[in-house]
Amino acid sequence: MSANTFTIATFAGDGIGLEITQPCVEVLEAASAAAGGGLSLRFEHLPGGAGCYARTGEALPASSIAAARAADAILLAAMGLPDVRYPDGTEITPQIDIRMILGLYAGVRPARSVPGAPGPLADPRGQNLDFVLVRESTEGLFKEREKGVVIEDREARDSLVITRVGTERVVDFSFRLARQRKALGGKGRVTCIDKANVFRSFAFFRKVFDEIAARYPDIRADHAYVDAMALNFVRRPWDYDVMVTENMFGDILSDLAAGLVGGLGMAPSADVGDDHAVFQPCHGTAPDIAGQGKANPIAMFLSGAMMLEWLGQKHGAKAPVEAAALLRQAIGKALGEDRVLPMEQGGDAGVDAVTQAVLRNLRSS
Ligand code: ATP
Repeated sequence: MSANTFTIATFAGDGIGLEITQPCVEVLEAASAAAGGGLSLRFEHLPGGAGCYARTGEALPASSIAAARAADAILLAAMGLPDVRYPDGTEITPQIDIRMILGLYAGVRPARSVPGAPGPLADPRGQNLDFVLVRESTEGLFKEREKGVVIEDREARDSLVITRVGTERVVDFSFRLARQRKALGGKGRVTCIDKANVFRSFAFFRKVFDEIAARYPDIRADHAYVDAMALNFVRRPWDYDVMVTENMFGDILSDLAAGLVGGLGMAPSADVGDDHAVFQPCHGTAPDIAGQGKANPIAMFLSGAMMLEWLGQKHGAKAPVEAAALLRQAIGKALGEDRVLPMEQGGDAGVDAVTQAVLRNLRSS
């Protein structure tokens, strides 16, 4: 196979995932064609999710995970449905299982304003946000998520796990990311978000953070308590660069970060490990609007752009990076110059109208 041909394990999943996957495939194919250089993506569509569980009794078939493991990258839309549950009443979340199985420890959640797209902050600096929240994705409060106990209907307990290995690798990832961003004009700063003043687990997280920080004298390291950080996300988010935090805090703060750049339909993500990575929008399956063509597919497209950048970096290939740049440009033009306003932001553009606008711009680039 040519060095520029990549196999993409693709999970449409459930809910709006089923509506935004094919548009994303089309947009990625158009971006690849526009970039040239023989770039070719081979999408392998795989079963997984709540619908799959309802049909077959399996949420993530072994064949799907094997194909995902063998692929060059994994693209996932959204999984889970409120009415489909395991016998113990918990929701079907194979997207979390994939992170655990493939060791995807770094949940990369960029909050980057798309020029021209409306944001909720009145301050003009709020229109030019560019920070990255890195969510530890394999432990924290999610580590023992199926092992929580309810004792005689009196009390319930879940435990939070922070390990040295888990913390070192995600903190090191965050410092490397800050260094890469600094080389491109970034602030060169990593902020540890924790609750070290109250919990031993978070004091340990902070201690390990400080040990890793000492290896990166060129990057400024600081700390913030999670409650103060929630305030600062709204008050002065433009001050930050890279932030790293525990799984549950990251889950909550990444939705807040999404709100700052226009909503969940604008927020992409990547879950990255040493060998594999999943690219998926921050949002879930949005059952309230599923099946109506109202979803904003931009988060999915931007996740595709992150995938192309990761592939380019991993394989030292220029064409995927070029395709990602063209895709970001086409999205910016659709939302900015062309004034396409997704329904999520009060406009009238559904999945189809947003997709067509992005495709038009890609085909004329
Ligand atoms: P999960 O727990 O899987 O993250 P959730 O139920 O908390 O999922 P979402 O499914 O992300 O949350 O939906 C939260 C809200 O955001 C819903 O009102 C949904 O309609 C809206 N939403 C999510 N994604 C989009 C999108 N791409 N376009 C428009 N609205 C969206």
